[in-house]
Amino acid sequence: MTSEVAPHWLPGVRHVPSPNFGPRPDPTDISLIVVHSISLPPGCFGGGEIEALFCNRLDWDAHPYFQTIRGMEVSAHFLVRRNGEVVQFVACDQRAWHAGRSHWAGRDNCNDFSIGIELEGLEGGLFEPAQYGALVDLCQRLARRYPVRAVAGHEHVAPGRKADPGAGFDWAQLQNRLAWPARCFPQ
Ligand SMILES: [Zn+2]
Repeated sequence: MTSEVAPHWLPGVRHVPSPNFGPRPDPTDISLIVVHSISLPPGCFGGGEIEALFCNRLDWDAHPYFQTIRGMEVSAHFLVRRNGEVVQFVACDQRAWHAGRSHWAGRDNCNDFSIGIELEGLEGGLFEPAQYGALVDLCQRLARRYPVRAVAGHEHVAPGRKADPGAGFDWAQLQNRLAWPARCFPQ
């Protein structure tokens, strides 16, 4: 794919198209980045299960944990692996299914106007330096292409229902390295 025919797929990252998306109500309204964490099964890193889940190819019977998420049809736009590799699943102008019931800055349904970035990790656990580097680079690239005005965690847009990425994620480091105004981050 070239940038001319697929302008909403970032060049230089691996593309693994997911079917779990739909149209945004306003394709030009891409104003929020939602940071998540995921690992399958929780705490296991490096396998192909996340990509399989996002592409509806996960073998639900392969692990007892997978029974608890059987049938889920979800995807984020991006995944940042532990080694900093970035995978894109959904074009940025499309609405990926990552935040669910959610609310941010007076608006419901964050999927409508956000880009979802999953960090491979355990909710509440620490993340790798390579992941912060890749996340900073990704946020900067997205902010050059889209009118992104804020970054929040899933825990901030769905409080009480979701807790990722959790206490192990270093928001101060992200804010310092991006050098965006404090109002762009969870308070
Ligand atoms: Zn999440």
